[in-house]
Amino acid sequence: MKEIKIHDKIFVPYITFEEIEHAIKKVANTLYEQHKNDVPVFVGVLNGVIMFMSDFLKHYPGECEISFLKLKSYEGTHTTGKVEMEMEIPMDLSGRHVIILEDIVDTGNTLEALYEILNKKNVKSVKIATLLFKPDSYKKDLPINMVAISIPNRFVVGYGLDYDGLGRNLPDIYQIKLEE
Ligand code: 5GP
Repeated sequence: MKEIKIHDKIFVPYITFEEIEHAIKKVANTLYEQHKNDVPVFVGVLNGVIMFMSDFLKHYPGECEISFLKLKSYEGTHTTGKVEMEMEIPMDLSGRHVIILEDIVDTGNTLEALYEILNKKNVKSVKIATLLFKPDSYKKDLPINMVAISIPNRFVVGYGLDYDGLGRNLPDIYQIKLEE
């Protein structure tokens, strides 16, 4: 893996696909142990979750349903702090065990918006599973039930995550290069 340039920034290799897949398998098996007697609904937060969701589902051995919603809070490499709903969950979730799949939890603003949305939907239970978590950046007290990989507070791209629209199709995760 080599350094790459996206728009004006250089990114360095950080987490390989093999490491990501290993961490995802663990999350899938742990959630299966907790939900093997019910049919959970995995709700993916678009667009960043696409690769995580697809690999997670391949490793989830039980019955499940899926749905999506779309939220937006990032412009470039910084959060705007304001979370906007771009696409509602097109499914009745009342009485269901819902597990939100997130690409990354950073400040927690998006997570807070997700809890607010789901609290109005009469669900049986809500869990949050995130591929990446930046503990140094997290500002909320809300629970995050499953974290696949914790990372430092540095901008990353790849494996579904973008920098201004580009980089989502990279199979590995890259970290922004610090100025020398
Ligand atoms: P939060 O609301 O927790 O601050 O941020 C959550 C959203 O911000 C994520 O779903 C993701 O879209 C975006 N985000 C946060 N950190 C990063 C990062 O390091 N790289 C990329 N590409 N997006 C990020």
